[in-house]
Amino acid sequence: MIDFSISPELERTRQSTTAFMEEFVYPIESKMVEEEGLPAELESDLQQRVKALGLWAPNLPCEWGGMGIGYVGQALLNEIVGRSVVAPRLFGNAAPDAGNAELLLVAATPDQKDKYLRPLAAGEVRSCFAMTEPEVAGSDPTSLRTTAVRDGDNWIINGHKWFTSGAIGSTFAIVMAVTDPTADSRARASMILVPTDTPGFKIVRAVPVMGSGGIGGHCEVRFEDCRVPVANPLGELGQGFKLAQARLGPGRIQHCMRWIGAAQRSFEMMCTYALRRQSFGEPLAKKQTVQNWIADSAAEISAARLMTLNTAWKLDRGDDARIEISLIKFFGARVLHDVIDRAIQVHGALGYSKDMPLEMFYRDARAARIYDGPDEVHRQVVAQRILKTFAGVS
Ligand SMILES: Cc1cc2nc3c(=O)[nH]c(=O)nc-3n(C[C@H](O)[C@H](O)[C@H](O)COP(=O)(O)OP(=O)(O)OC[C@H]3O[C@@H](n4cnc5c(N)ncnc54)[C@H](O)[C@@H]3O)c2cc1C
Repeated sequence: MIDFSISPELERTRQSTTAFMEEFVYPIESKMVEEEGLPAELESDLQQRVKALGLWAPNLPCEWGGMGIGYVGQALLNEIVGRSVVAPRLFGNAAPDAGNAELLLVAATPDQKDKYLRPLAAGEVRSCFAMTEPEVAGSDPTSLRTTAVRDGDNWIINGHKWFTSGAIGSTFAIVMAVTDPTADSRARASMILVPTDTPGFKIVRAVPVMGSGGIGGHCEVRFEDCRVPVANPLGELGQGFKLAQARLGPGRIQHCMRWIGAAQRSFEMMCTYALRRQSFGEPLAKKQTVQNWIADSAAEISAARLMTLNTAWKLDRGDDARIEISLIKFFGARVLHDVIDRAIQVHGALGYSKDMPLEMFYRDARAARIYDGPDEVHRQVVAQRILKTFAGVS
């Protein structure tokens, strides 16, 4: 028999997180401005409260000011935090900073950790991750064109990126660039740390998007003879794709954890409203169609939660969980979308209005099927891996 019980300590942490969300987060959600976030003073005040409660940065080890609770612990807390768009920044584990901090932890030199990771882990600065380019398929990053050419004690970067999330106001970017065009396609690129005040780092615009945008925008960025010291590559040269996998793998599961929270909150709104709203002489909850939506949503959320926890459990045991991460990435994104869609339908015009968080959840959910690898690519990864196990068997 499988034991699904949670340690008393983790249970207490879950309760404190839930209490914080109820007392401090839900009441201030309406103060968020799309693409700008919460007012800076309010955000900073709430971050200090989170730190004082010992709930800061569940994804980071204790020596870097985090909670050091492993992936299963993170999954359970991120579900609570994911219930609100504003919460991940308050708890110090919002994208892209969380993934960048994890990348710095595994790949940065002691000097780089001191300069970049320390302030990032403390929430004193923001960062961005520049890999995707408009001219080539982001799904196949081996085709990227941005180059970094060695010139004496510097690397000179030239290229064009977009969807560099959070770039406006970031202190540094982690940039994927080709450092050896003659190498094998998987070994051509490296990651390079680029302070955003470096001459030649140019933010063209925040690309207008369907979703809430997030603080710092999803930016188009040009690198024009952007010169950084030779010490700035992260990890070994040519290891960019390997590091990207290390960053995006666990990073993907953090998204999935948060999606369950957003889906669960939408589900709760759907149930509450279905019981309250009268139509044709009875509550909506009496209609079989609505009951089907509730039952289907409960089953799908439950499946997504168990798949996520299973993936987290494997990661905690040192497994790279490649198949499980891809499974939950496309399955979780679909569940998120479908549950919010049903919740909006039950609410009618109210669900479509900005009086409820559902419309923003819905807009943001659409991107979940694209970022960190579109659904189709994750399905392909899963199918190819499964088929490999059958090859030669028949
Ligand atoms: C909200 C948001 C935030 C993002 N943040 C960042 C960021 O911070 N940094 C960053 O570098 N990038 C970021 N991205 C970019 C994201 O990683 C890319 O959009 C993604 O990798 C897909 O690349 P693409 O958009 O170039 O689509 P393409 O690769 O051109 O693919 C287009 C479509 O083709 C289909 N397709 C692709 N490959 C296959 C296949 N093998 N089989 C079947 N169909 C396929 C899919 O339907 C896919 O949606 C972000 C994107 C979004 C939407």
